Amino acid sequence: MRTDTIIMGGGLSGLACGIALAKRGQRVTIVASGQSTLLFNGGSMELLGNIDGQVITSPLDAISTLPHDHPYSKIGTSRISSLASEAQGLLADAGISMEGTATTNHWRITPMGVAKPAWLTLSENIRIDELDKLPAKRVALMCIRGFFDQPNGMLAHGLRQLGFDVQMVEFTTDDITALRRSPSEMRAASIAKHLMSNNALQRVADQINKLAADADMVLLPSVLGLTDESHFKALQDMVHKPLRLIATLSPAVAGSRMQSALRHYFQMLGGNYLMGDTVVGGNLEGDKLLTVTTAKLGDMPLRANNFVLATGSFVSRGLMANYERVYEPIFDLDVDADGDREQWTRFGIMDPQAYSRYGVATDSGLHCLKHGKPIGNLYAIGSVLSGHDAIKMGDGTGVSLLTALAVAQDILSGNK
Ligand SMILES: Cc1cc2nc3c(=O)[nH]c(=O)nc-3n(C[C@H](O)[C@H](O)[C@H](O)COP(=O)(O)OP(=O)(O)OC[C@H]3O[C@@H](n4cnc5c(N)ncnc54)[C@H](O)[C@@H]3O)c2cc1C
Repeated sequence: MRTDTIIMGGGLSGLACGIALAKRGQRVTIVASGQSTLLFNGGSMELLGNIDGQVITSPLDAISTLPHDHPYSKIGTSRISSLASEAQGLLADAGISMEGTATTNHWRITPMGVAKPAWLTLSENIRIDELDKLPAKRVALMCIRGFFDQPNGMLAHGLRQLGFDVQMVEFTTDDITALRRSPSEMRAASIAKHLMSNNALQRVADQINKLAADADMVLLPSVLGLTDESHFKALQDMVHKPLRLIATLSPAVAGSRMQSALRHYFQMLGGNYLMGDTVVGGNLEGDKLLTVTTAKLGDMPLRANNFVLATGSFVSRGLMANYERVYEPIFDLDVDADGDREQWTRFGIMDPQAYSRYGVATDSGLHCLKHGKPIGNLYAIGSVLSGHDAIKMGDGTGVSLLTALAVAQDILSGNK
């Protein structure tokens, strides 16, 4: 089988790139070794939320002030706005309906009740456009008895700090109580599976209608919608008050749904998704990568015209470290990282950590470098790239989506 492009890594960046290429008729194979960091995602995407401790309200304006080694600067600031619209369209086409704009950040609420700047948020999740204009005053925070993934006290405290008048409402139903016989069932994904039945949803709605009658808005942990938003819509129809979901601790239902929606869309477009296999090496000749080898296919190397490295950061083993150095494990590409391991981390847990900006070194076209020279048909996208910081800058998902789409455009236009 002839493949135009092979993508290593099937998280947000790999899938977005694969979809953009497959949509334009390319034959694409994604090799994905395991779960991605989308499972940490409670239902929001971030473009740029913070620079040097300053909260960013207008990401498109702020992007032009980023240093030249930031992935957005490499893509070219003039492309950011149209790539951001393309990303939102791609998500919608995959069945992920999100609200927000790249011109002005809104606020998402973390499972701890902290408001963070965000670009896009799932339509059913609570979001705040302006902190001094809350979407409701009196909210009923629904707390499922025995549920593991919502820190109720911290969340309520955080919401009160934001100015909400919070009523904490503990509730259960007979069938949810029955689930508690096995403690592992009280996780968000298991409850979401249970709430795929209309009868189970109706029992939750009855509790909400009985216990939250005084609220202007009802907040329910995000335990609906493993496959799509239909169960949220069904519950909203049964509940007499405006209903919004609030992100839970991970693994999150929203992130897992986004991962499977993107994968199904990619496969629907004819993409080949090799789940559970790992790229372990490749055959480089001069400035060209000819083939890659996977753990399962062994002596049957995969050949393509272009290759995209979308293997993520340390969490996903796209980057690794030993006592001496930080390295990229498949090709031993050049990485931007401090040579002195003392510099990798800072003691304070809330301090910016140098390692979170480490990543594969690339030229201005996001071609990977080895011994300082670009490999013409090997690109890097997403969190394996250096020069950004998903945690401190709030740019993780934006970098993943926009670099993925920029590289797809470059591959399609034959730019080398
Ligand atoms: C704990 C945590 C919380 C986060 N929270 C948020 C948030 O709330 N909002 C937000 O906007 N962003 C958040 N981010 C950042 C965001 O999740 C990432 O920036 C983005 O999703 C990264 O996507 P990716 O595709 O580049 O990498 P990943 O999601 O890491 O995916 C990489 C994939 O490559 C696979 N892989 C690795 N090596 C190989 C190999 N050799 N062969 C084949 N496959 C391989 C991995 O198994 C994985 O599936 C968070 C990140 C983390 C770590």
